[in-house]
Amino acid sequence: MCGIFAISDNKDSAQLTHLGLFSLQHRGQESAGIAVDNGGKLNAKVGMGLVSQVFSDATLAALPGNSAVGHVRYSTAGSSSIQNAQPLLCSHSHGQVAIAHNGNLTNALTLRAKLESMGAIFQASTDSEIILHLMAREKGPIEQAIIKSLPKLCGAYSFIFLAPGKLIGVRDPLGFRPLVLGRLGKSYILASETPAIECVGGTVEREIEPGEMVIISGGKIKSLHPFKDPGRTAVCIFERIYFARPDSIVGEKSIQACRYELGRCLAREMKGVKADMVVPVPDSGTHAAFGFAKESGIPLKMALMRNHYMGRSFINFTQSIRELTVRLKLAPIKDLVKGKSMVLVDDSLVRGTTSKKIVASLRQAGARHIHMAICSPAIISSCYYGIDTPTKEELIANRMTPEETRKYIGVDELHYLSTKNLLETSGGANGKVFCTACFTGKYPAKNPDMDK
Ligand code: SF4
Repeated sequence: MCGIFAISDNKDSAQLTHLGLFSLQHRGQESAGIAVDNGGKLNAKVGMGLVSQVFSDATLAALPGNSAVGHVRYSTAGSSSIQNAQPLLCSHSHGQVAIAHNGNLTNALTLRAKLESMGAIFQASTDSEIILHLMAREKGPIEQAIIKSLPKLCGAYSFIFLAPGKLIGVRDPLGFRPLVLGRLGKSYILASETPAIECVGGTVEREIEPGEMVIISGGKIKSLHPFKDPGRTAVCIFERIYFARPDSIVGEKSIQACRYELGRCLAREMKGVKADMVVPVPDSGTHAAFGFAKESGIPLKMALMRNHYMGRSFINFTQSIRELTVRLKLAPIKDLVKGKSMVLVDDSLVRGTTSKKIVASLRQAGARHIHMAICSPAIISSCYYGIDTPTKEELIANRMTPEETRKYIGVDELHYLSTKNLLETSGGANGKVFCTACFTGKYPAKNPDMDK
């Protein structure tokens, strides 16, 4: 998962992109970067770490430009290294171009091997570089090179390209990853989520449609639909469950409201459940827990306290010290928990290791009965489309039956939201709107690299 942001025709383009990236930081913390167009000459600054670690007043001041594109990265293809940090900036047959990508290509290895056999030399191991090599082989203006190259890609992509005098945004025909359009005075903004537009004082215009390409140049915008319409979409439903910010607007509804409705739906599925309180696992389970409490009539208690100041500082510590970090990150409030029964609401169960530790700490604090309510179906398959889920073998629902999972986590009861109700509540009951591959194992796009 990554976050992308771009703004046209603004003398403060780097500073505004910097702010936009801050609001998208939840989508990637490994690296950050900004490329600017300074009168037809592109420059970029990328670095490892958080936006606040990569950019200072001085580095931003060294990025003058009238248009900019930025990226925050969480690696799904390619290693976590500076070579893979984006925007990737290169010079090729179409001149200079910078690219920011959110998604994951499922034929990247196949295409890369083919391109290397034809003499291409890659600088990075990320899949995003492939599109630059494909474009370099096409003739005509840059937008034509993009249009001819993109149909060769399989998988998920929302791309923003910055070229001298042009900003181009495009979303794959199935629309896996989001991309929205906004305005700030005469400037156009492209961003992964609506709060990034609002945080720079802009107004949200609309979502870029699946398969749509927009070309922003000379203060004007042109919209094209250059790809064959697949007759359905495959929007990642996990964006609604977990990834997107609660204040993001998707299809005129906030993500908060979507999660609240999912929580209500979960409570209806668990009709008759008895407990002293509903407890969210913050922050991911919070809005669903509010919905659950409303629907069930069981009072909501914030009985787990989240520490927001930990960052990633423990990543290099020993296993035994890292074990303690879950306790540091989420601590039970003992006097709320002691002797009580609870419905513990979380968004999803992936490996199950974190949930096991949370439950152990609640038990230690005296919780009497824990009914775990998961606001998504069991995850049985890996994501190939830009989310860093573990291998299939590591997924708890793939390794264990629900009863084995319940025992492993250490709860008294366990309930997953059904796929049918997830889709109905999210407005995708006809099965033609959302990707649900991680719950069903049915992948909506071709995955040549994975099928080898
Ligand atoms: Fe989203 Fe799951 Fe599909 Fe990946 S497999 S795009 S996480 S719904």
